[in-house]
Amino acid sequence: MQLQSFGAACTVTGSMHLLTLDTPGGQRRVLVDCGMFQGGDEMEARNHEPFPFDPAELDAVLLTHAHLDHIGRLPLLVSRGFRGEVHCTAPTAALAETVLPDSARLQTDGYRSEIRRARRQGHEDQVRPPLYEEADVHRTLALLRPHLTFGQTEKIAGVRVTPERAGHILGSAYLLLDTPDARLLMSGDLGNRESGLQLDFTPPHAVDAVVLETTYANRTHRPWAQTLEEFRDALRDSIRAGGKILIPSFAIERAQVILHTLKELMDSGEVPRIPVFMDSPMATRATNEYFEFGDELIPRVRDALQAGEDPFRPSTLHVVPTSAESQRLNKYDGPAIIMAGNGMMTGGRIQHHLKHHLWKPSTNLIIVSYQSPSSLGGRIVTGADTVRIMGEEIAVRAQVHTIGGFSAHADQDDLLAFLSTAGKPHVWLVHGETAVMDAFLPVLEAHGLKGDIVPDRQTVDLLGPGFPAGRPPGLVVEGSAEHAARVTGGE
Ligand SMILES: [Zn+2]
Repeated sequence: MQLQSFGAACTVTGSMHLLTLDTPGGQRRVLVDCGMFQGGDEMEARNHEPFPFDPAELDAVLLTHAHLDHIGRLPLLVSRGFRGEVHCTAPTAALAETVLPDSARLQTDGYRSEIRRARRQGHEDQVRPPLYEEADVHRTLALLRPHLTFGQTEKIAGVRVTPERAGHILGSAYLLLDTPDARLLMSGDLGNRESGLQLDFTPPHAVDAVVLETTYANRTHRPWAQTLEEFRDALRDSIRAGGKILIPSFAIERAQVILHTLKELMDSGEVPRIPVFMDSPMATRATNEYFEFGDELIPRVRDALQAGEDPFRPSTLHVVPTSAESQRLNKYDGPAIIMAGNGMMTGGRIQHHLKHHLWKPSTNLIIVSYQSPSSLGGRIVTGADTVRIMGEEIAVRAQVHTIGGFSAHADQDDLLAFLSTAGKPHVWLVHGETAVMDAFLPVLEAHGLKGDIVPDRQTVDLLGPGFPAGRPPGLVVEGSAEHAARVTGGE
């Protein structure tokens, strides 16, 4: 039972985990997630690196959920030769149908404008082509098999796979993989048990090894009630300032949580009704899937949906369909809330709103999502005086509010609660910054669990040489003959 992580190892984006599993029918190679690196140029350059394995030799791909950092490189995998099946839950497939075409469009549009600029400067040879185009996305969507159902075991490539509710976003699953040797749990992203929309994760039964996300493994989220108060106060202060209120948000889950919360705060009179502009066509399309799969959501929201209400529509909501209308918002007078993507502000319509408003002291920027340190959002949060947006240096004079409690990710308490029913597995840490994982290791130890950080690209034996006696698992160093023998094909 071996793992090589080609993304989300010592970082939080680009999730891609190659499992080599012994089954009665022989060795199988299963890829769990195929996500995109996000959060700044340096990180995004990694998306263009060749896969360190031959996509055509994979036996199957399993998806945990539809966030771009878990599925964003799938079309690239297909364009480089993968022809197998991609297994996921029905909501994940439905959301992928929104996320992946949008990703292709963003890339081709970005490429066109970059190449125009580069030609004028005479270095068009330095512009990277898009990772993939819409045709690759269509081929990818045709490979999706949306048959995974929580609690039901399927045999996939000779491996028994059981998805369970992860409580992170619509359709998110953690995966139990059974081979004759052992039972492995791939956590994907686990939910915050105080999330505003999702039901809690299903507690796992005993497993032998866990590959665990650790985005917030070093901290505890504010309680939900306190988060709502903070958000309400930030909104009231911002409305008093009279300027624009910008809320950068990811299109899936965060956008719906914020819309639902705005509706509740405005309906109860806690926040004055001012116009809310939803300037993200992708978030608007994703919201439709929440109607489709409403029985996945917390009872309050599910009941509202069943009663024919729209829990995601504050009465002052305006949907902004086209980018021309988005541009016209710059001339809109008076206070208004503008929600736009992307959540880390590294691209999308939020960028032109920031360019027009970030330098004004009357603007309020309310941050409700994780900001990677290298992203534009990360630089704003850490107090940069100026930031570069769309080729222009912009002063940061807006009030910046950071509301951490909206996170859709498990915090330390959630992770420990999750592990508390999982027996005594070896815990392999992924999907976190190194400092966060370093801080979490002693916490695991204090709870009687052995943990290790999954190194980038190296092969780890998930059960260790001494399994099940609990000896430390061995690492195969990249570049060694043993490693070379394991990485077949390569590109
Ligand atoms: Zn996620």
